[in-house]
Amino acid sequence: SLQKDVLATELKDEKGFKGHSMLAPFTAGWQTTDLHPLVIDKSEGSYVYDINGKKYLDSLAGLWCNPLGNILHPSLIKSPKSSSIWETNLEITEPSAVVDNIQVRRPDTASLMSYGGNEPRLVAAATAQLNKLPFYHSFWNRTTKPTLDLAKEVQEMFTATEIEKVFFTNSGSDANDTQVKLVWYYNNALGRPNKKKFIARAKSYHGSTLISASLSGLPPLHQQFDLPAPFVLHTDCPHYWRYHLPGETEEEFSTRLANNLENLILKEGPETVAAFIAEPVMGAGGVIPPPATYFEKIQAVVRKYDILFIADEVICGFGRLGTMFGCDKYNIKPDLVSVAKALSSGYMPIGAVLVSPEVSDVIHSQSNKLGNFSHGFTYSGHPVSCAVALEALKIYKERNILEQVNSISPRFQDGLKAFSSSPIIGEIRGTGLILGTEFTDNKSPNDPFPSEWGIGAYFGAQCEKIGMLVRVAGDNILMSPPFIISPDEVDELISKYGKALKATE
Ligand code: PLP
Repeated sequence: SLQKDVLATELKDEKGFKGHSMLAPFTAGWQTTDLHPLVIDKSEGSYVYDINGKKYLDSLAGLWCNPLGNILHPSLIKSPKSSSIWETNLEITEPSAVVDNIQVRRPDTASLMSYGGNEPRLVAAATAQLNKLPFYHSFWNRTTKPTLDLAKEVQEMFTATEIEKVFFTNSGSDANDTQVKLVWYYNNALGRPNKKKFIARAKSYHGSTLISASLSGLPPLHQQFDLPAPFVLHTDCPHYWRYHLPGETEEEFSTRLANNLENLILKEGPETVAAFIAEPVMGAGGVIPPPATYFEKIQAVVRKYDILFIADEVICGFGRLGTMFGCDKYNIKPDLVSVAKALSSGYMPIGAVLVSPEVSDVIHSQSNKLGNFSHGFTYSGHPVSCAVALEALKIYKERNILEQVNSISPRFQDGLKAFSSSPIIGEIRGTGLILGTEFTDNKSPNDPFPSEWGIGAYFGAQCEKIGMLVRVAGDNILMSPPFIISPDEVDELISKYGKALKATE
């Protein structure tokens, strides 16, 4: 295809790994055989380097998961930047990492060099925990101290609704799988064995395991794997620009979508519908913030039919939108919440399900009758992941990460939205430190460019050539930079975006 030719010519530098042995996630077979993979070797601040030493501004913070990036590069200590977070770092006023009452020495400038520019407190927390107790499980009423401390911390941090219990997973996908099992257990325990269906939304992304891929509303995740599972239904994607009717306001659009949801519930039978799941801002589906009054109206429908609301905060959680959680921003009162990614700033794999008293009380009281709650993973509550996550959450609070996101995000949003007039851009949308660009012809959602042109892939390749990594999703370009991105780096990001756009136009 043209797209293949484009990528093969645009990204042809020899890195020596063509035809490698990894079955690569979310990668086409021809890419493995015909292209050299970009092999990332080290990181520093908001940047990563490939194995040839080429430097890239990481506009997606890994996979939306590395908000602390890699703070405190020694060169920045010598040359202060203006944003508050850098100044905080310069003073190095923070306490040392404390892991289970063991004080971990705060690194001095010399030893920072040996951390290679990565966040020393997270590295220290991992190292201390690895030295003390690299692993113990949390099955059968055994667990570890960092696991319990993190459960308490997460429970206290989430304030949109009351959280009683926290269940640890390895990722966002298995957090959402866990949601389904929790909800089924809950309804079985309540004697409602038919209330099992889940409603998710077109274009949502909830993961790639069998169940979380079923919940996701992206066709490629279904078509290749005989999904979705039959108990999963999908309702409208709340993308106003793409789907509103002529003359329809955002509020009217939200009302129509809420009515459609209600009609779907009535058609299926409310006694069969268990839960509704939504990302506060859709991420992988194209960065789609909700239209005005959307969640207010959707929540009213869900409550009316005794359907649980699950907030998938895997991308939005811990500050990305400028509030600690997406639920805070959009006044969502969920019964269950999934988190992952920023929970450990991506330094260790971990996810979690936050459970409201309504659900957890049933599980607790019924497990006396039904026996063990028979669900969990070897690495649920892994002590090293929990120690790192605890330290990440401490850093978010001590460095006032929300203030950082809110002070830098207007520069990021306004700077990029200024490109909206480009003839190949249909819409640029986003909030806080998350933003999507959609390429279309004639500024219209109804005039996509031919997919074989590979406009998105071409733009992504231009970015890569000039030293910036973006997420390409068809003709959408997605960005979610680290929270520690400095004003100068935002300017660099905007300038590189502008150059890649010019080359693409
Ligand atoms: N939920 C959302 C909203 C996500 O964006 C993702 C991943 O991007 C997931 C769930 C799945 O998380 P993981 O890749 O950690 O399994």
